[in-house]
Amino acid sequence: MTARPAVPTAPTNQDGSDGSVVVVGSANADLLARTAVHPAPGETVLGRDLAVLPGGKGANQAVAAARLGARVAFVGAVGDDEFAQAATSGLRDAGVDLDRLTVVEGSTGVAVVTVAADGENSIVVIPGANAAVDASLVRRHADLLAGAAVVVLQGEIPRDGVEAAAHLAGGRLVVNLAPVIEVDPAVLRRADPLVVNEHEAHAALRLLDRDGGTGPGVSGELPDDEVVGRLRALGVPSVVLTRGAQGALVAARGLGADGDVVSVPAPRVDAVDTTGAGDAFVGALAGELARGSGLVDAAHLAARVGAFAVRGSGAQPSYPWAGDELP
Ligand code: ATP
Repeated sequence: MTARPAVPTAPTNQDGSDGSVVVVGSANADLLARTAVHPAPGETVLGRDLAVLPGGKGANQAVAAARLGARVAFVGAVGDDEFAQAATSGLRDAGVDLDRLTVVEGSTGVAVVTVAADGENSIVVIPGANAAVDASLVRRHADLLAGAAVVVLQGEIPRDGVEAAAHLAGGRLVVNLAPVIEVDPAVLRRADPLVVNEHEAHAALRLLDRDGGTGPGVSGELPDDEVVGRLRALGVPSVVLTRGAQGALVAARGLGADGDVVSVPAPRVDAVDTTGAGDAFVGALAGELARGSGLVDAAHLAARVGAFAVRGSGAQPSYPWAGDELP
């Protein structure tokens, strides 16, 4: 698909907010090398080709929301090296506001990905400048965070940066606990919704239980609806559990006649590459919530956007633009 310039819109919501999304998170340059086999320790193998692509969960989510027409600002950091341009190229193309991007001395976050012929990845992540997105950096953007309709957080920046952003968010807070970090459980209790896959959902349960939650201990396999129910019982206002090709479970008070959990199916598609599907889902969800949609409606759109993303290769390059036909 060819990238085309987005035309960000500025929706006005019923509550008078400007409908803006602020993503606080990581931006990386992904160096993707294709090889026949993974090199063994001490071995050198020849690669087929090298691609340099924009990545990082924060940037991916910001791009997904902006491509669909949301007004998005990104709070994050890149280094003063040649990878900064690659890390931010997708954000720029999508029209994300980068006024709050900090440039620090040293290297941009980089992910070195080797993809072997069997499709298996091995990945080395160098956080680089993403490690600078701590509480003191985040606090410099308190005004932006206080005024945003939706603030979106993930786990690729320091824990205290996530905690500060959650504290400063004036509107709705979307927390994607990916990768799992040992965040203050108060962040999860502020998440509306907490977006997690099955593995992350169990980690969130452990974090909340350790905090003196009232739920029974977490052991063994639990059905997904029970997992989301327990997360809510432990104080998370709403939960979206993503389940790959099965779509998502949405849990919040008063959703449906038969309880507080609604299943949102994913459209059936031929999956080519699921990289970044979760980020496509989170970005689309946040943009739709900022527009004023309810959580279930937003999850329906996000599931279609996630399905669109798995039909193409890579993360950001596979995300739809407003007007693209969704499955
Ligand atoms: P990743 O870390 O690979 O980005 P994740 O584990 O965070 O993924 P998933 O649950 O795999 O997230 O995917 C997010 C959403 O994308 C799903 O809820 C679903 O809506 C959509 N999706 C993912 N895989 C498929 C698929 N094979 N077919 C259709 N939709 C899919």
